[in-house]
Amino acid sequence: MTLPGGLERPGKIVCVGRNYADHAAELGNVLPERPLLFLKPPSSVIGDGDTIILPPESDQVEHEGEIGVVIAHRLYRVSESEALEGIAGYTCVNDVTARDLQKQDVQFTRGKGFDTFCAVGPAVIELPDQQGYRDLEVICRVNGEIRQHGYARDMHFPIPMVVAYISSIMTLMPGDLIATGTPAGVGPLLPGDAVEVEIPSVGILTNRVEAYEGT
Ligand code: ZN
Repeated sequence: MTLPGGLERPGKIVCVGRNYADHAAELGNVLPERPLLFLKPPSSVIGDGDTIILPPESDQVEHEGEIGVVIAHRLYRVSESEALEGIAGYTCVNDVTARDLQKQDVQFTRGKGFDTFCAVGPAVIELPDQQGYRDLEVICRVNGEIRQHGYARDMHFPIPMVVAYISSIMTLMPGDLIATGTPAGVGPLLPGDAVEVEIPSVGILTNRVEAYEGT
């Protein structure tokens, strides 16, 4: 596994569901009144160039290209401006999801938690201007075809609010990763696919997709 420089395997991965109006609508969900949070296990993390393994339990594994936030230092019940100062940098995340299993369960743990379901990389980039997060752009391609395209400025809950909100529930630690939600266009990943998540100022995260074939 080749995680980007400065990023160890995160102690926790906190994800935000339904943070873009167009994605909430495509799944038939209303926008939440407050950030909808769930966790992915650290064991789900892979790096740039690693392979996403489709588990035999699912017939509908989907990509979710997202803007990832890497935490710089301990944050507990911080303000939004303190939250912004506590961000080490940004990275590309693919919040891979077994959509059929997610819909079967109340909790997202199974549908979101398989090994290789959290691709991260290829770098953690610090913005020269902290306020520049609004201009971050995320694009997801499968086999070179654009499937998703969104901007941080279109998030229902902006990044500083999300980080501050999470810090009011659990202490954020250095290296923790926050996946800030996915824009519209989620779709299937099939064996042999190459999936890319690009944030133009960060780089391109590339992973191939294969079916599970036993150990
Ligand atoms: Zn997601």
